[in-house]
Amino acid sequence: MDCTTANKNNDTSDQYRSRGNEAFKIKNYEESLKMYTQSIMTAEIDSLNFALSVANRSAALYYLEEYEHSLKDIDQAFKSKRYPLQNNYKLFERKGNCYRQMNHISIALELYSNQLFLGEILIIEKPIAGVFKNSMWMFNCNYCFQRCLSAIPCSKCSQVVYCDETCLRKAHTCYHGIECSLVYPLKADPTIEPTHDLALRCFVKLINLMGVEHFCSMVRKYNEPNFSFDKNSNNCFMDKTFHSIYALGGNETKRTVSNLFFMHCTASMMVSLLSLNEYYDIPSNLLGTVGVSLVHLLCIANLNSYASVELSKYIGKSSNNISNRPATYDSVALVLCSAYSLINHSCDPNVIVQTYSGVEVTRAIQPISKGSQLFIDYGVKFFSHGKEERITHLFDQYQFQCRCQACTNDWPIYASLELDELFISNGPLIINDEDGDNHLSIPKTTLSKFNEIVDLLLIHHKINVDCLDFLFSFLDLLYSNFEKPCTIHYKCIQLVQACMYYTSDQVQYAIE
Ligand SMILES: [Zn+2]
Ligand SMILES: [Zn+2]
Ligand SMILES: [Zn+2]
Repeated sequence: MDCTTANKNNDTSDQYRSRGNEAFKIKNYEESLKMYTQSIMTAEIDSLNFALSVANRSAALYYLEEYEHSLKDIDQAFKSKRYPLQNNYKLFERKGNCYRQMNHISIALELYSNQLFLGEILIIEKPIAGVFKNSMWMFNCNYCFQRCLSAIPCSKCSQVVYCDETCLRKAHTCYHGIECSLVYPLKADPTIEPTHDLALRCFVKLINLMGVEHFCSMVRKYNEPNFSFDKNSNNCFMDKTFHSIYALGGNETKRTVSNLFFMHCTASMMVSLLSLNEYYDIPSNLLGTVGVSLVHLLCIANLNSYASVELSKYIGKSSNNISNRPATYDSVALVLCSAYSLINHSCDPNVIVQTYSGVEVTRAIQPISKGSQLFIDYGVKFFSHGKEERITHLFDQYQFQCRCQACTNDWPIYASLELDELFISNGPLIINDEDGDNHLSIPKTTLSKFNEIVDLLLIHHKINVDCLDFLFSFLDLLYSNFEKPCTIHYKCIQLVQACMYYTSDQVQYAIE
């Protein structure tokens, strides 16, 4: 028998931890301390069970006012490397509280600053490129994407419109000068999807910026077997447009033969169109490299682009009142953003993106501690898509298996909630934290404010952007006091998302 693991058993450890949580809930901290210690003793070395129990014990010790021991347990939990990263903020917060109780205010403040607060803006970026969904091209400027009912057309082709001469000129200099003669044949081809247009737009922007010779030499360099980025050049990713597009993943090695074959066919069709283009002459010896680059850009666009969602606006002043319209999310364009594309997936994402007149703004919707990872959702979330559906989508589209907390622990789906179920019963509401960390009683006034927002937002679609601050602080209150998954948390996330959407025309983010 291996003596190091003799008699250790994670199931037994779990039972002790549950008993510790029970005692914690009724504020019997001494009993919970005993149970958590038993749980720690029986947990297998280096297991998640050990990390969870030691973290819970730090909470019991905190309430027993044994701050130094609590700090020691917090450090043990951090050191174990098994404590879920997304819950690190709880430990940072507790650590800060311990130091505050011990009158080490400056250390406490430093620890609190190790976290991003909810609603904090993490990325503001203009997409590298974007293309309209077919239905939008007539009423949105082809350059700045803003809605424009009195647009001016391109002087050559009949396929695009612009706000004014300035947008028209900028678009021509940037890409449309080359793209103009390609738009029509592409639109006429039924196999061409918006992601293909997006790949071509990226290519055209790059050759316009760098010149096709330089572009092709970079592509060749990039395809050399020992290629690596120059780590000495600062900000090489964001500064150099070529890298910020071309370095994104395309998953070529994981694609099926038929999918890759289709990408090659599309690329070769684009090469033929480009070689006939009267506005830009690509030397015939470079056409092969151009084809190679287009396959990669097609794969990148297919993998990394997402639909940018903007507030529905209707034509005519009287119909602009959307209160009697169904609440739908209007997907305006398909966009590719370089920084946003670097973020991995979780079915329980900790950041959320919203479009503000063509600018993409990414915010924290969970407490995120310094050094931990950001997660977006790749089109599927635990509360709106069942586990099987998520597995299939993520595997088919992105070739990976998700191991987020929601997938590992089979979190329930909430999509079936009806509109009137989004209201919270008019309290006071008592929530017990399943982890045993805390009890929370939400005052009646806070609950009625929440319900007022549900009413304004989802029934009348009339809301002020200030409500977002309230919702983020409400969400923060929920996060520091209870374990997910839980209906009230789901309701609040739904509201944050809807509030960002319905107030997206009230805020401007300018990037030059
Ligand atoms: Zn414009
Ligand atoms: Zn044109
Ligand atoms: Zn997942």
